[in-house]
Amino acid sequence: MDIYQLPALSDNYIFLLHDPQQKIAAVVDPGTAQPVRQKLQELKAELVAIFNTHHHHDHVGGNSALMKQFPKICIYGGSEDKGRIPGQQVFLQSGDRVQFAGRIGEVLFVPGHTRAHIAYYFPPTAEGETGELFCGDTLFAGGCGRLFEGSPTQMVTSLTKLRALPDNTRVWCAHEYTLKNLQFALTVDPDNQDLQARFAEVKALRSRSQATVPSMLGMEKRTNPFVRWDQQALQSAVKSLDPVQSFARLRGMKDQF
Ligand code: ZN
Ligand code: FE
Repeated sequence: MDIYQLPALSDNYIFLLHDPQQKIAAVVDPGTAQPVRQKLQELKAELVAIFNTHHHHDHVGGNSALMKQFPKICIYGGSEDKGRIPGQQVFLQSGDRVQFAGRIGEVLFVPGHTRAHIAYYFPPTAEGETGELFCGDTLFAGGCGRLFEGSPTQMVTSLTKLRALPDNTRVWCAHEYTLKNLQFALTVDPDNQDLQARFAEVKALRSRSQATVPSMLGMEKRTNPFVRWDQQALQSAVKSLDPVQSFARLRGMKDQF
């Protein structure tokens, strides 16, 4: 399974999964159809599936146009998103599985950004291979999504699920927010040397307009404050030992940042 990352809208990424043997493709969160069409043409591949993480327009805006062009495609989304995702045919629940190019994607229910948000995790199939996590707007490189429909308790539960995945997992998050996220992270975790090094790296990449996505989950665990609420440095920054309260305070500070 090859993965292509297509920049879209102002700061979104659409992910195109390609099976070169069968000449088929699937796409994660097509906020708009044009970049997907272009890539499909270039690869001479047929689109067979859309995997949506949640109903926001910048993630589903291309569904209808792609469905028209490829009437046989199957559109997947979370069961709680019923009625909110254009063309949705499959209503996924936690523990369900999807398949593409001989890989199995496990569905994780990760509410918080929205009440229906899901993520897709493709575990490695061979030694040394990476796992692939498509997490929409739940976990970002260096940050996490805003709480539009969910509570801090839900988001902590969701992020706890995601951080339990292996370090050797690529995090394909849906926005290029990393630089701003790390600027905030440094204000709450200033002595973290991994974070300082990551910030320098990301700053250099962004100065050349290069992508900082995907990141590795191991790096997130070492540097992303939103999966580190139980680390001492962060507990003292937010003056709380309680996971939900720590997380809520961090999220609140980031909202003001
Ligand atoms: Zn969103
Ligand atoms: Fe989004």
